[in-house]
Amino acid sequence: MIVETFPAGPLGCNCSIVVDPGTKRCIVVDPGGDLDLIREKLKAHDAKVDAIVHTHTHIDHVGATAGVQRDTGARACIHEADRFLYDLLPVQAAMLGIAEPEKVEMEGSLVDDATLRFGEGEMCILHTPGHTPASVCFVVGKHVFSGDTLFRRSIGRTDLWGGDHATIIKSLKQKVLALPDDAVVVPGHGPETTIGDERASNPFLR
Ligand SMILES: [Zn+2]
Ligand SMILES: [Zn+2]
Repeated sequence: MIVETFPAGPLGCNCSIVVDPGTKRCIVVDPGGDLDLIREKLKAHDAKVDAIVHTHTHIDHVGATAGVQRDTGARACIHEADRFLYDLLPVQAAMLGIAEPEKVEMEGSLVDDATLRFGEGEMCILHTPGHTPASVCFVVGKHVFSGDTLFRRSIGRTDLWGGDHATIIKSLKQKVLALPDDAVVVPGHGPETTIGDERASNPFLR
């Protein structure tokens, strides 16, 4: 599987392009902004986008969704429990002082334990609430796209709409740390890590 991750959008959200090398079918994770950059990367991989998926629905993770959808016709997906946050985009935009992104029809099709197929590739969905009620992680082979649930040596904040500290800790311990130590974690912001490194050294997971 080809995985390319790069910061995109006003808060440097990590956007990932996950491509099945045989068929070029692709899933875009968290297109936070910088549509032209995302276009360039998709073109470089000759990628055919099947789905645009979101680890959660904070504004910095959905900024370029409309543009990627218009270019590719791919479906855009969230976990249903974050729909209220998508409806709050104007409030999120005002709070950060940034422009409100164009809205799209979001499918609430990301459910726990479901699998999205793209060519020969499979993406498994883990519902990991806490940062937001519908935060999810995506697992593709050895890669885990953890959104703002798990960062290198840190975890997501839980003081925004619907966040809950006890819930994120439970999600991390029961679901995320159940993944193998050599799994590569691509967080929603900042550098990559591994499950083993975070199990050993993340101060929030002691
Ligand atoms: Zn967030
Ligand atoms: Zn974020």
